[in-house]
Amino acid sequence: MDGVSITSAVKRILETLPVGVTLVAAAKLRSVEAVRAAIRAGVTCVGHNYVQDAAQMIPLIEEPVRWHMIGHLQRNKVKRAVQLFDIVETLDSRRLAQEIERRCAAMGKVMPVLVEINSGREASKTGVLPEEVEQLVWQLSELSHLRVQGLMTMGPRFGNPEDARPYFRLTRETFERLAAVHIPNVEMRYLSMGMSNSYRVAIEEGANMVRIGTMLFEERADE
Ligand SMILES: *Cc1c(COP(=O)(O)O)cnc(C)c1O
Repeated sequence: MDGVSITSAVKRILETLPVGVTLVAAAKLRSVEAVRAAIRAGVTCVGHNYVQDAAQMIPLIEEPVRWHMIGHLQRNKVKRAVQLFDIVETLDSRRLAQEIERRCAAMGKVMPVLVEINSGREASKTGVLPEEVEQLVWQLSELSHLRVQGLMTMGPRFGNPEDARPYFRLTRETFERLAAVHIPNVEMRYLSMGMSNSYRVAIEEGANMVRIGTMLFEERADE
């Protein structure tokens, strides 16, 4: 897809997002040129699934943009990840958090993180179960070089996005429940959920951060 089409796709989506909803462009498998076109059209946050991809792209992009880690983060990649990313959306274990803490302490950096919820309770998926998240967040609240700023979920993939609604709702209820606990050093500020086919439903269920790839970077059938 060329720069002109990406520009119009970005503008179309930005126009339809309610005020207060942040668009994260999911950049996996996209070229530097494509991502640059998206940024010029108004994208302010770009998500990567792999540390390696981010390490290749980030030095080539001069435009100011916030880099989000949206893929599963392995502990042996944390050192590089904390240098590259502005936020990790996929924190899902205490061990991973301790490694981020250690690496960020050495750099004098505080890393914003979202806790990933496995809202569909899928064995194949990463993330913590909704009933386990509060205990993990209490543990994270003691680490001074990371800062919990909200929750993220993928949810099961469905052809019909309405089928994803209960999983988004469950995640939002978890988000509200945690906000009401007022855990020190923890903010419930970002609720990251919804992708190209499901972001409208996710926003209806309370998402204020959506991660969109296909709709920004791939030609629509009606064009
Ligand atoms: C690819 C990806 C997205 C975007 O999915 P699309 O269907 O291409 O919009 C969002 N979140 C994560 C974690 C992804 O890997």
